[in-house]
Amino acid sequence: MTFARRPLMAGNWKMYKTQAEAVAYAGAFAPLVAGVDDRDILLCAPFTDLAALVGETSGTNVMIAAQTMHYAPEGAFTGEISAAMLSEVGVDAVVLGHSERRQYFAETDAALAQKLRVALDSGLLAVLCCGETDDERVAGRTEEKLGRQIDQDLAVVGADELERLAIAYEPIWAIGTGKTATPEMAQETVAFVRSRVRANLGAAADKVRILYGGSVKAANIDVLMAQPDIDGVLVGGASLEPAEFARIVRFVTAA
Ligand code: PEP
Repeated sequence: MTFARRPLMAGNWKMYKTQAEAVAYAGAFAPLVAGVDDRDILLCAPFTDLAALVGETSGTNVMIAAQTMHYAPEGAFTGEISAAMLSEVGVDAVVLGHSERRQYFAETDAALAQKLRVALDSGLLAVLCCGETDDERVAGRTEEKLGRQIDQDLAVVGADELERLAIAYEPIWAIGTGKTATPEMAQETVAFVRSRVRANLGAAADKVRILYGGSVKAANIDVLMAQPDIDGVLVGGASLEPAEFARIVRFVTAA
């Protein structure tokens, strides 16, 4: 399975939507994006929605992702889910290292390196998140923070595997705040992330998809997707409503 920088448009529902709500969403959303075949579409949903969503979107162009997983194949890890459990229900992808997971659930770069390895070995498309806080940006430490996350999280990834993962650059100060990075700032930082991947893994860095996330909405998607290094988006709040997210998926840039 390779993706080679097709735009990846991912909606992160966080802890929203019961199974019934998820199925109703998918029933409304899939027709709105039918025929969109030049970009990948991903819904990242709570664990309890996944099996129903896989069934509801079967035969459509909508892929389904979990929002986290454990690196162990099984074990005494109460509340956790393994890659095999996700694969069994037919999930396509998994989000790793979302800033909310890092902040509230103490997810570490060491654990993320293991999770990334397991996701790739399991055939899941991995969407690895990274990003700086407001304080880090103001202090001029954005590149230091992102560089460390990239170096450590990708420590056991090979250059030939970069096509099977995506990196979501999400400035923490822009998540759920309504404050979007300017397109220029998003481009500049995404380009830095790519340069750091290149420093670690060479020219194959041109094959990794790098997404922007942080208060993306229908009103700003077109200008964000016009940036040369931005290969897609990870969208929280604006993905909760089918018509809004469908417009995001159907972004248009000048030819
Ligand atoms: C997210 O959940 O990753 C996110 C970027 O949220 P929002 O779009 O609501 O800022």
